[in-house]
Amino acid sequence: MQMEFKRKLPVPSEIKEIMPVSKNVDEIKKQRDEEIQKVFKGESNKLILVIGPCSADREEPVIDYIHRLAKINDKVKEKLIIIPRIYTNKPRTTGKGYKGMALQPDPEKKPDMLEGLMAIRKLHKRAVEETGLTCADEMLYPENHRYLSDLLSYVAVGARSAEDQQHRLTASGIGIPCGMKNPTSGDLSVMLNSIEAAQCGHTFLYRGWEVTTQGNEFTHAVLRGAVDRHGQNIPNYHYEDLIRLYEMYAQRDLDNPSVIIDTNHSNSSKKYIEQIRITKEVLHSCKYSDDVKRMVKGFMIESYIEDGCQKIGEGVYGKSITDPCLGWEKTERLILDVAEMV
Ligand code: PEP
Ligand code: MN
Repeated sequence: MQMEFKRKLPVPSEIKEIMPVSKNVDEIKKQRDEEIQKVFKGESNKLILVIGPCSADREEPVIDYIHRLAKINDKVKEKLIIIPRIYTNKPRTTGKGYKGMALQPDPEKKPDMLEGLMAIRKLHKRAVEETGLTCADEMLYPENHRYLSDLLSYVAVGARSAEDQQHRLTASGIGIPCGMKNPTSGDLSVMLNSIEAAQCGHTFLYRGWEVTTQGNEFTHAVLRGAVDRHGQNIPNYHYEDLIRLYEMYAQRDLDNPSVIIDTNHSNSSKKYIEQIRITKEVLHSCKYSDDVKRMVKGFMIESYIEDGCQKIGEGVYGKSITDPCLGWEKTERLILDVAEMV
């Protein structure tokens, strides 16, 4: 059996027309983008925190969570730039299971892509409108990026996608910082190849168009830990790992050599509580080397309202249905501690 073409969906420009952003949101995004890009250019010493649930499962708790972040942002904004993680597309290790709000606006119901596309745009729009914080998402399907391109201030290309040509080429033309994660194998040269590819301009086929890009100087590394051939996690956030990355960067001619440390996934072995220690260890490493300090631009932290995770259907408000997350109280403490340490 071949693919069944069910229905034609609106293209990004059509959805943007139905759900436009206001002039105010436009202004906020411009200012935020500039502020964030200054960090990557080394013109600002603020630390970036890309922080939020593994998956944005439901609008209400996610918006509630981002309001909490916005409140704490007022206290730390001189030191930190908080970019809420609203991850609406989930890559799955075996392809099975919940694939995110874009596909399933209600995790307990069947996939509905039209509703999904509207739901993710509504969520990202509400976040900026209500809190003034533009957010991050994973660029899992490069063809879908433009459904949110007027709202996002940051994207990551996941561990399972960083080796893919279409991701790299698309990243070269999005105009916002793009974190390339190390692949699950942990091969840092694959990640650096990906950064190199995205920092160059390209001509390619995108959504039925021939497009050209100028390259994205804000493409950078994200260390998320790796998995060895026996399936064991190998962290890559320690001092020696950071020095190695610094040296590998030094051998290439790349713009703005930068790294964000993903504190969960194979770095924590998904023991969410370890994210606190990992963040502090990296900040400590920054004190030992100016090179490391200059290269480390911030953290990606998986955090939500409740500690841990649950199965779909258990229905606990604000508790992750994918990777286990740090709950709100511990998150608040961690953000304040990080602000003190920088
Ligand atoms: C994530 O950030 O939730 C994620 C799936 O990350 P990775 O691609 O590193 O596995
Ligand atoms: Mn995750």
